[in-house]
Amino acid sequence: MNIHYALALTEPAQHLMDVTVDVTGVTGDTLDFVLPTWTPGSYLIREYARHVQEVTAAAGGQPAACRKIDKLTWRVETGGQDAVQLRYRVYGNELTVRTNHVDDTHAHVIPAATFMYVAGATEAPITVGVTAPQGWEVATGLDLAPDGDRLPASGLIYVAENYDQLVDSPLEIGRHRTLEFTVDGKPHRIVIWGAGNEDEQQLVRDTQTIVTTARDLFGELPYAHYTFFLLLAGKGAGGGLEHRNSTSLLLPRFVFQPERSYERYLTLVSHEFFHVWNVKRIRAAGLGPFDYTQETYTTLLWAMEGVTEYYTDLLLVRAGLLTPKRYLERLADDVVTLQTTPGRQLQSLECASFDSWIKHYRPDENTANTAVSYYLKGAIVGALLDLEIRARTENERSLDDVMRYLYVAYPLDGPGIPERAGYLEAIRHVTGQDLSDFFERYIGGTDELPYTDAFGAAGLRLAWDWKDKSGGEGRPALGVRTKTEGGTLKVAGVVRDGPAYQAGLTADDELVALNGYRVADENSLRERLSDRKVGEHVVLTLFRREELRTLEVTLGVAPQDKLSIELVDQPNELQREMYASWLRIK
Ligand SMILES: [Zn+2]
Repeated sequence: MNIHYALALTEPAQHLMDVTVDVTGVTGDTLDFVLPTWTPGSYLIREYARHVQEVTAAAGGQPAACRKIDKLTWRVETGGQDAVQLRYRVYGNELTVRTNHVDDTHAHVIPAATFMYVAGATEAPITVGVTAPQGWEVATGLDLAPDGDRLPASGLIYVAENYDQLVDSPLEIGRHRTLEFTVDGKPHRIVIWGAGNEDEQQLVRDTQTIVTTARDLFGELPYAHYTFFLLLAGKGAGGGLEHRNSTSLLLPRFVFQPERSYERYLTLVSHEFFHVWNVKRIRAAGLGPFDYTQETYTTLLWAMEGVTEYYTDLLLVRAGLLTPKRYLERLADDVVTLQTTPGRQLQSLECASFDSWIKHYRPDENTANTAVSYYLKGAIVGALLDLEIRARTENERSLDDVMRYLYVAYPLDGPGIPERAGYLEAIRHVTGQDLSDFFERYIGGTDELPYTDAFGAAGLRLAWDWKDKSGGEGRPALGVRTKTEGGTLKVAGVVRDGPAYQAGLTADDELVALNGYRVADENSLRERLSDRKVGEHVVLTLFRREELRTLEVTLGVAPQDKLSIELVDQPNELQREMYASWLRIK
């Protein structure tokens, strides 16, 4: 079967793209076309088909009957013809890295949301032609057709080995800037849509350093060329999505200064680039080849995303783009976030991974109480796992060795890692150590993490404290998260088992007064609380569904929310060596 897609940006200002799929070598009376319901790397059912309109079909050059047989699938009556054509339009006006965005300046095309596959033919090779408005250019990880084929309208033709490769290759079409550098003789591009306060030379230098540092870890760059799509937009913009030889990065346009803010660019690049290996090649069974019609379950997203998040900062400190001090500060902040999330006691990393489809991408006011992020906790467990391996092997082996082993042991053309047992087996192979107990407690279970021992092995100690010590240690607290909405102070969430939780406060309660005195915003609430003592009863006045209510709350103690992870005064030789080799401090 031969499959050719033609993508035409006919009405970009109206957010519309025209897609034509030409299939030849068809046998049988019907042919099904399916639009994926999700895209790899983002584990949520998105039902892209809801943005498809004006679908028509032809067979043997004549109009053919076409009807939907489920929410994703269009069935064409072929009349026995061997050439079938499907035409449709796709609406794209959602600026994220996993949805189409088309306007009068560009199109960022997410293939899973755009190109229907031919049922039963996802292994067939594919060609894609693109026509765009005058002066617009196309950037994609796909290669151009070898014979330099061009469409009559001077559009370009790209090739994909199969549908998976097409889905893995977003296209940026428009008037973009392209920055270039080379590592190991391989071309790398940063394709930028939009502009802000970036320094182009700094982007090239730092991005190249990240590429080189990751290459040093794995020993090679497993692609012929690589493209960073950098989409610069408004304040709330953010996100990244990994592909085998490209990545889409979405950031606020003024994120590049000052230095602290620039960390968002560095960490996004580092995270997505580490996925070149972890996820795009080292992958859980089920994460390729894909079933695009439904959820794919794995308990290993903590290893795919969390371990990637661990290496995100580790690569940066090894590259000299974060100081060791700053690295430990960021790690300590993550530990504080986890330790102040009650959900860590209810949901394990494996359960968080498995339930990503219904939980991670759909947070609500109960999430912090019942769930844990496999990114956040996965990154911390990645650090502890690395330190545990180093401690058990007197720093002869590390998680780096495990990653390198996994990269070789699970090549792209074979099956992925068979869940927990596969990971444990890799660790056993590399280190000679059985970490079943570690996995059972901290990855499959919800035991508190062994920070003191793990960091202690590298000569680090933890010092917990309160950020706000006005009025002495252990100031009184209600155990609520608040938000200001429409000029009113509202409860955003209630900490499970905390004072407000016991008293029956709930999300969206509008706080009015504490002991009869107005609390208009977060500051005045903090001030009114600081006048009180732990264990004291206070009366909260609030509106719930426009009804005035009072609730009595017994004040608790604010949890410690400040942590520093620092070197002990006199580390022993092994501790010193472990710390230095971990962060590559010369
Ligand atoms: Zn990721």
